Amino acid sequence: RVGEARLPSHLKTKIPTGANYSRIKSDLRGLGLSTVCEEARCPNIGECWGGEGGKENATATIMIMGDTCTRGCRFCAVKTSRAPAPLDPHEPENTAEAISRWGLGYIVLTSVDRDDLADGGSAHIASTISKIKSKSPQILVEALVPDFSGDTECVDRIAHSGLDVFAHNVETVERTTPSVRDRRAKYRQSLAVLAHAKRSNPKLITKTSIMLGCGEEDHEVLQTLKDLRANDVDVVTFGQYMRPTKRHMKVTEYVQPAKFEHWQKTAEELGFLYVASGPLVRSSYKAGEFFIKNVLE
Ligand code: SF4
Ligand code: SF4
Repeated sequence: RVGEARLPSHLKTKIPTGANYSRIKSDLRGLGLSTVCEEARCPNIGECWGGEGGKENATATIMIMGDTCTRGCRFCAVKTSRAPAPLDPHEPENTAEAISRWGLGYIVLTSVDRDDLADGGSAHIASTISKIKSKSPQILVEALVPDFSGDTECVDRIAHSGLDVFAHNVETVERTTPSVRDRRAKYRQSLAVLAHAKRSNPKLITKTSIMLGCGEEDHEVLQTLKDLRANDVDVVTFGQYMRPTKRHMKVTEYVQPAKFEHWQKTAEELGFLYVASGPLVRSSYKAGEFFIKNVLE
């Protein structure tokens, strides 16, 4: 285990390059969309926005429902409040319009949690997805959604919105969940949400993400993978937890690239349809390239 001050060389940020990346960045200026890629200064932006083989393979992540969350996970840099600003009723239409002009192949919609709203914002998310799909049927849409406190009606609404990939992150193993995620987020509840989405619409691809470096043991990671498969989760990604500020929980370990390869192989052997595992992998990492080529064509 190493101290937090010494960042291993495999975590040094790459400089984004590529013609598509530059074009997309300038296209974005006029669209008024806020991307997680830019705001989180994601190191993968060159690869995701570059999209090997053209813009239609490019991926970007967009945040909807505001910038303030009703939860406070210990790893997350998003602002927190019990009463965030009301939803913008024009957001679904405006987002769909901007995305259709942008012309990417794959969009990941993500959002804060809105426990202050009766439906957790599920109707707003579902409406955004439906509008994107009706304006741009060729764009594949992944939504990284809250747990809706386990409300299956909210999950059904998202599952039947025209969505392609239903993503919800377990983030960490069961034992460390209470010290990593907000106290309202429960490991078993997250598994149940993923299982329900698949039952509700078996055509959906279901997907989750695990951060390493949060105090988890190897046998617990293995158990998590087994739990996910037992709940019909199709896709798993692994990345390194990076502490956003000193007020956030500490990194317990910078996991070596060889360990990420081990989890890649183990997850593939357990039957996941697709696995992305590496120190800089984020849940949406180059999602488009894989799905367009391998799953949804
Ligand atoms: Fe961050 Fe999501 Fe947790 Fe909110 S629910 S604090 S956005 S990780
Ligand atoms: Fe954007 Fe996700 Fe790719 Fe990072 S990994 S650039 S957040 S799509």
